[in-house]
Amino acid sequence: MSDAMDDRRKGLEEEYFHRKNKEAVEKMREKMRIAAAAKAAGSSSLECPRCDGGLKVNTFEGIEVDVCDKCGGLWLDAGELEQLTKKDSGGWFSGLWNSFNDN
Ligand SMILES: [Zn+2]
Repeated sequence: MSDAMDDRRKGLEEEYFHRKNKEAVEKMREKMRIAAAAKAAGSSSLECPRCDGGLKVNTFEGIEVDVCDKCGGLWLDAGELEQLTKKDSGGWFSGLWNSFNDN
């Protein structure tokens, strides 16, 4: 195996991983675009992280929560738990939030 062949192979590998990375990023962007569009339309097409069910957006006291239509799992976006704790001062959620943030 000559060095030129090695370099060529290395180049191909790098090209391969570069392409794979690009594909992954594009897939992620597409997923986020679909999720944002679905959220704007009042329905979420997000898949449940736990099962293959779909997440439906429920609004409770002005806070959107994603509830799985299959396993019933409830998911919060970043900041939503914090919003909940503000509405729940002294309650269970604010206790949970404080326990995360005390450390
Ligand atoms: Zn689920």
